[in-house]
Amino acid sequence: MKRKSFIKTSSAVLAGGMILPWTSCKNKPMIRKNWAGNLSYNAMEVHVPEGRNALIETVRDHDKIKALGTRHCFNSIADTNYTQVSTEKLNKIISLNEVDLSITIESGIQYGQLAPYLEERGYALHNLASLPHISVGGACSTATHGSGVKNGNLSTAVRSFELIKGDGDVIDVLPGQTDDWFNGGVVGLGGLGVISSLKLAIQKSFPMRQRVYQNLPLEELKNNFVAILSSGYSVSLFTDWLNNEVSQVWIKSKSGQAGEVSSKEFYGAKAATKNLHPIVALGAENCTEQLGIDGPWYERMPHFKMGFTPSSGEELQAEYFVPFENGLEAMLAIEKQKEKIYPLLLISEIRTIAADSFWMSPCYQQPCLSIHFTLKPDWEGVKKLLPIIERELEPFRVKPHWGKLFTIPSNVLASRYEKMPDFIKMIKSIDPGGKFRNDFLDTYIYSNE
Ligand SMILES: Cc1cc2nc3c(=O)[nH]c(=O)nc-3n(C[C@H](O)[C@H](O)[C@H](O)COP(=O)(O)OP(=O)(O)OC[C@H]3O[C@@H](n4cnc5c(N)ncnc54)[C@H](O)[C@@H]3O)c2cc1C
Repeated sequence: MKRKSFIKTSSAVLAGGMILPWTSCKNKPMIRKNWAGNLSYNAMEVHVPEGRNALIETVRDHDKIKALGTRHCFNSIADTNYTQVSTEKLNKIISLNEVDLSITIESGIQYGQLAPYLEERGYALHNLASLPHISVGGACSTATHGSGVKNGNLSTAVRSFELIKGDGDVIDVLPGQTDDWFNGGVVGLGGLGVISSLKLAIQKSFPMRQRVYQNLPLEELKNNFVAILSSGYSVSLFTDWLNNEVSQVWIKSKSGQAGEVSSKEFYGAKAATKNLHPIVALGAENCTEQLGIDGPWYERMPHFKMGFTPSSGEELQAEYFVPFENGLEAMLAIEKQKEKIYPLLLISEIRTIAADSFWMSPCYQQPCLSIHFTLKPDWEGVKKLLPIIERELEPFRVKPHWGKLFTIPSNVLASRYEKMPDFIKMIKSIDPGGKFRNDFLDTYIYSNE
């Protein structure tokens, strides 16, 4: 369907799926914003195909189209001026392979839907983000990550994926193929086409325990940086940058793992005696169980429970990656700006991510420390603050999270991705007509040709 020819004011059932206009005939607002509500999508319609064939037809029959997962990005990476295709109803499990330890799923499935299925059968994924609500396709496309010095981001679980190209052709993308489209395409930023399914590596299920420690002195962090961040399977530091301390250390351990931290004190921080929210002022009802209580991996690795609002709900987010070896220096550089940061800050989170092989991953061949900011929903203020943060992190060749807010210019970003020219060559070859281009990709990718 061409841009001018679709109808904005009615909703119609199409072959195998729904087409939702952005404005209903009764002027009731439809879903037209991202999760945070800071972005109204420009797309003039959204298709919601109910299966692979309908998805293929939808992609083939539109001139310009953009995949939409669960809408958790804070910037316009998932937007278009034309058509969005939602993967909401592409959420099925296709097959579980207990011999090669993999699961093949439709790309729109949320981690919170996939994880209990795996757990019931005795399996687990290697890691999860802070929330289980996001789609696997959207998360992997933007290099979404959890924490853990030995854990790669979520896309490192991808073994292969099925891609629908602009002409409706379907290709399987696997490691080792000519031109290395696998390493180029797993973190594809929605630029290759629409991923219909992914095969993910799984492992035997493992119980976990989560403990939170409060008020870690900054001095202890300085002296024991690597030890503290390596003290569990997944470790997060939450800080408001004030008072020369880290307000909370969340340690997620495999139950009974060697060296599991369970003491009352941890480098001068005290074990919490009740469940906490990372934002101290908020109650912990939405948070996963803490206090060292055993539970399945998928109810400990995310900070927030499925079925509850993650984080604050009213917020903006920005996140930056620096090489792990520069992590402490980078944190101290940010701490210098605490007076400017604090008025806009809800909370910061520090995590670690192992290196991977994906061209557009911020952790390409480089283990990273990520410095995240959950910020008040005040874009005018935040857009003045981000350049200050980015300037402090510049010496570390900082890269932003692809799904969050940033102001780093496109040419600077390009200079930090050595595989950017190969990525551009690849997406131009897979999508010669530019069907999956949008303003975000034009600005941050294609402009660097
Ligand atoms: C409360 C909150 C907490 C968060 N916590 C974390 C965290 O812990 N760690 C972290 O790294 N990030 C985190 N994020 C960011 C979030 O995980 C990413 O932005 C992720 O991309 C969201 O996935 P999505 O399904 O909502 O993608 P969308 O926003 O819908 O889309 C993202 C991109 O993926 C593309 N895409 C989606 N599906 C497909 C597909 N099937 N085929 C091809 N392209 C596709 C879209 O076109 C777009 O370019 C958080 C965000 C929120 C709101």
